Amino acid sequence: MSQPLPDTDLIVATPERVSFDYQVAGLATRGIAQLLDLLILAGVLFAVYFFALFEVGIGQDTIGGLIAIIGSFVVIFGYHWGCEAFWSGQTIGKKVFRLRAVGDRGEPMTFFQAGIRNIVRIVDFLPYGYGVGLVVLFVNGKGKRLGEVTLAGEGRKSVFIKRVPLGMILAEEAERQGIKIERGKKLESIETTNTGSVVATFQDGTAARGDLLIGCDGVHSRTRQIIDPAFSGPVYTGLMNTGGYTSGVQVSSPPETTHFVFGKRAFFGYHVSPSGYIYWFANYVQAQEPVREASERSTHEERKQRLLELFRDDQPFIREIIGAAEETFPDFPSYALPTQPASWHKGRVVLLSDAAHAISPSSGQGASMALEDAAVLAKCLRDIPNSEQAFATYEHLRRERTAKMFELGQRGDSGKFVTRPLQQWFRDLTTPIFLKLFANPKASDWIYSYRVDWDAPVTTATADSIEGREMVSHAAK
Ligand SMILES: Cc1cc2nc3c(=O)[nH]c(=O)nc-3n(C[C@H](O)[C@H](O)[C@H](O)COP(=O)(O)OP(=O)(O)OC[C@H]3O[C@@H](n4cnc5c(N)ncnc54)[C@H](O)[C@@H]3O)c2cc1C
Repeated sequence: MSQPLPDTDLIVATPERVSFDYQVAGLATRGIAQLLDLLILAGVLFAVYFFALFEVGIGQDTIGGLIAIIGSFVVIFGYHWGCEAFWSGQTIGKKVFRLRAVGDRGEPMTFFQAGIRNIVRIVDFLPYGYGVGLVVLFVNGKGKRLGEVTLAGEGRKSVFIKRVPLGMILAEEAERQGIKIERGKKLESIETTNTGSVVATFQDGTAARGDLLIGCDGVHSRTRQIIDPAFSGPVYTGLMNTGGYTSGVQVSSPPETTHFVFGKRAFFGYHVSPSGYIYWFANYVQAQEPVREASERSTHEERKQRLLELFRDDQPFIREIIGAAEETFPDFPSYALPTQPASWHKGRVVLLSDAAHAISPSSGQGASMALEDAAVLAKCLRDIPNSEQAFATYEHLRRERTAKMFELGQRGDSGKFVTRPLQQWFRDLTTPIFLKLFANPKASDWIYSYRVDWDAPVTTATADSIEGREMVSHAAK
């Protein structure tokens, strides 16, 4: 059985070939120690403000103001920096709970390290109202906390759903509405008839006729190849994906929290369900795009061994989760469309989702983009009688947002390519600041608070269509 995550031992090998180990403190202990420090800080700040008010009271307004401003800065910034730099990584709160801040290799904190650590702490205190919902906690391979992100816009809540149940819910609803689903068909060619209908022919020789054809056939879309044969197509991102399911391993995790671990050689994500079941995935860098059949041929044991090797220098609980996995997915490469096709539609055929704008899985937004696309396209087809104009309006409304989402995926990928120690040191230093400034609920609102107002009518898009832009406005806060 594993140790719970926060109490994991960290073993440090010194240049003198002597190894020692220390325990990474648990979140609860760290939290209580911080609370004690906060109470002490509040007490000292109270004294400073009292003194400042006294000065104001005797008519020394400027001196009172300066005492309040400079005193707050010195107390808030200086308390942790000073204590940790000159008291071997301890503050009063840490000393009471027998904790100590140390360098990455277990060495005592230098003055400089303590300063950087506390600049990050101040950024960490910037005021953002956190919504309730799924939280992603970022740590490095040694368990050092780098920050957290709430997966929801301001005042909103996120839900966690696996893709198979999502697919089943959508398919059941389609069938309930009388929409027939044919499985196992592979699109081969598309033709438009003289009467204006579209005929899709499949590899098994069968065909289907309709008024429109919506190509939602993924990043390697055949529909896209047919309507735009000159388009360069998807690019392998250099990242491989795998994952699995594990039960019977005790890993402590706050509720509704997904954990992202920047390991030394690979990236690990996991989510513990209320029943203790662990869903996990891993990304690792592989320069050469793999031959598809090769990764599909690998066995469950081979995949586990490769991952155990990749995470050999990270916290032991990761290897326990992998080692006990009941199921692992075949490794598969990530693809994205670095540019979108010049047009998402041709005649009566239109592209949707990954076929039009595949973004890296690191964005966690691909399926959401598919749902948004579908809702906007449905509105356009409902309100604009001419299908080509409806397609043009849909594309106009969706291009900018999906292109922005592509950049988000690229940023997510970039942290996973960091495998050199110096780069990792820099990443660990800057990630907390980056997350706080650019991944807080306010800054992420454009991602999560996007709403399609189904009842608002849409009008045909022209180059500077205002009505069209308003249709998919961000939800009111
Ligand atoms: C590892 C990984 C993790 C991800 N994590 C998330 C996440 O957390 N959140 C999120 O929102 N998104 C995530 N995504 C992205 C998301 O899965 C995709 O963006 C989404 O599935 C795209 O939907 P789609 O319908 O366009 O394509 P797909 O889901 O790829 O579906 C395309 C369908 O078309 C079929 N098809 C292909 N060719 C043909 C043909 N010639 N004829 C007929 N049918 C065909 C395929 O069999 C498939 O059923 C992740 C993706 C990956 C790879």
